[in-house]
Amino acid sequence: MTNEDAKVIPVRVALRCRPLVPKEINEGCQSCLTFVPNEPQVIVGTEKAFTYDYVFDPTSEQEEVFSTAISPLLNGIFKGYHATVLAYGQTGSGKTYSMGGTYTSAQENDPSVGVIPRVIRRIFEEKEKRADSEFCLAVSYLEIYNEDILDLLSSSKDKPAISIREDPKEGIKIVGLTERQVVSAPEMVGCLELGNSARTVGSTAMNAASSRSHAIFTITLEQRRGSDKVDSVVSKLHLVDLAGSERQKKTKAEGDRLKEGISINRGLLCLGNVISALGDESKKNAFVPYRDSKLTRLLQDSLGGNSHTLMIACVSPADSNMEETINTLRYADRAR
Ligand code: ADP
Ligand code: MG
Repeated sequence: MTNEDAKVIPVRVALRCRPLVPKEINEGCQSCLTFVPNEPQVIVGTEKAFTYDYVFDPTSEQEEVFSTAISPLLNGIFKGYHATVLAYGQTGSGKTYSMGGTYTSAQENDPSVGVIPRVIRRIFEEKEKRADSEFCLAVSYLEIYNEDILDLLSSSKDKPAISIREDPKEGIKIVGLTERQVVSAPEMVGCLELGNSARTVGSTAMNAASSRSHAIFTITLEQRRGSDKVDSVVSKLHLVDLAGSERQKKTKAEGDRLKEGISINRGLLCLGNVISALGDESKKNAFVPYRDSKLTRLLQDSLGGNSHTLMIACVSPADSNMEETINTLRYADRAR
C-alpha cells in the first residue's frame, strides 16, 4: 500500500485564476490577486491570504491542472473509488473553460481543451493497459435548472419526467435519464458534444440559462476482475460545471427570475454545507444534509464515503470582480 492509499482525503480544493480577458484589459482592470511562488497560496489586495490544496495562477495551462489535480482521482476510479470534480465560481470565471464544456472534436489536439475530454482520453488509455479486466462504460449528461432535471442526451421530443430514487444496493438512481453504453473514447466524446450543444441551444432560448444551471457529466465504470470475471466493482465519476455563484440582484429579481435565484442559491448553499460537513473531522458522525437540494441528492453517493472530491474554485483576477472573488475564496476556504 502506498502513502496515497493509506489515507483517503475526501475533499481537496484547487483555486484556479484565469488570465485577465481582453474586455477586462480594455476597461483598464488591474489584477487584485498575488500568487506566492511555490506555495499554494493567494493574497487578495495587500493583506488577506488564503491557502488551498492547489493554486493555479493565470499562467497555468489545462495540462497542468489535469496532471496535478485530476490524475490522482482517476487512479482512484480504477481502484474502485467514486470521484466528483466540481467547478465553482461566478459567471465568467472559467468554469466551463476548465471543465471542457464547450468541447468539439475539432479541438482534439488543442492545448486549451479542458478536464472532461482529457478524462475521457485517460480512462480509455488506462482501460487498454488492463487486459486482465473486463470493462463496461456508460455516460449520462444532465442539467439541473430550477430544481428540475433535464436530460442532455435525450433524443426524444417528449421527454419523460426524471426522478431520483435511492436503491439500497445500487445507491442513487436517476429514473428516466438516458444512460449510454460506450465502447470507445470517440463515442464518449460524441456524448459530450451532443450534451454541450443541447446545453447551448437551451441557453439561447432561455436567456443564458447555462449560467444559472448545474451541468453534470457522469461516467460509470464497471470493472470485472479475476479469471471468472465475477468480481465486479462499479465506480462513478461526476464532472460538474456549477451554476454561477454570483449573488442575484434581489431588487431586480421577479417571478421566474426570483425562483431561479432561490433555487440556484439553494444548490450551492447545500453543496457548501455538505462539503464542509465532510471535510470536518470533528463532524465525522454528524448529519450530512444531502437531501436539501437536487444537486447534493444526485451527488450523494459520490460525495463522502468511498469517494474523492475536488472543487476547482474559479476566479477572475480583475479588481472589478474583487467582491465576488473574495466570496469564492471564502466558500472554497470553508470547503477545505
Ligand atoms: P464560466 O463558465 O465560469 O462562466 P467561461 O469558462 O465561459 O466562464 O470563461 C469566461 C471567458 O474566459 C471565456 O472567454 C474563456 O475562454 C476565458 N477563460 C477562462 N479561463 C481561462 C484560462 N484559464 N485561460 C484563458 N482563457 C480563459
Ligand atoms: Mg459557463
